[in-house]
Amino acid sequence: MSASSRFDNPYCAIDHAILNQGGLNMQAVFSVTGLPAGLQQKLAEADPAASPHRQLLLIGNGGEAFWQRSREFVARTEHPLDEFALDTVQRFLAEVAPGVRYRVLYPGPSLIPLQTLGALAGWHHPSPMMVGINDYWGMWYAYRVALVADTDFTPSARVDSVSPCLTCADKPCLAACPAGALGLQDGLRLERCLDHRVVPASNCAGTCLARVACPVGSQHRYPDGQIDYHYRYSLAHVVKWRETGACPR
Ligand code: SF4
Ligand code: SF4
Repeated sequence: MSASSRFDNPYCAIDHAILNQGGLNMQAVFSVTGLPAGLQQKLAEADPAASPHRQLLLIGNGGEAFWQRSREFVARTEHPLDEFALDTVQRFLAEVAPGVRYRVLYPGPSLIPLQTLGALAGWHHPSPMMVGINDYWGMWYAYRVALVADTDFTPSARVDSVSPCLTCADKPCLAACPAGALGLQDGLRLERCLDHRVVPASNCAGTCLARVACPVGSQHRYPDGQIDYHYRYSLAHVVKWRETGACPR
């Protein structure tokens, strides 16, 4: 398991060892004032303190390295993935821009339009199951940190990617869904998916069989333990939401 760099990973815009070795191997740099006006407005509404900064850094993980490297945080905190990501990014900033003014937008309580930022960066294309997809990592990537900072990184160009779903003739994800929740025309029928996931001993309690069936980026697929962790975590929120009406986050 090697740390990826921009030589083999087109989504690695900053390409710094601290980020890459922590598995935070997806990075995009935006000028805050260069963002579309509507997006600037959404960010300002989500966090009024965000706008007076120069740059927005979007940082994610592709593949399994982040999961493996974060294991040392499991015993320390209830939220090892968030805490490990923040620790790694803070160490990175201390190294490259000591004392720089910055503000973390995500993870945090504000609703940050991560998928919109991901689409601007060229990371995100819609898939039939509402999980973002790209032609390098497939669906095996995630947003980990978004922050604004007075940094001077070179703004990154959008990665020139297209949706792999457009040229996927067989669409094996559709047939792999045991609930028939994915349609060519109407995408994910969320209630049908959730109804299937909450039944006792559901085969989608700890995974999404459709996501696993997608051949794109399968060499970067998360380990079984990580897939199980993410899906059981989301399932617990779904169950709570259905029982209490509390919105899942
Ligand atoms: S199997 Fe094909 S249609 Fe389904 S998510 Fe993967 S690339 Fe897209
Ligand atoms: S979690 Fe299961 S039911 Fe839901 S879309 Fe994926 S395969 Fe289908």
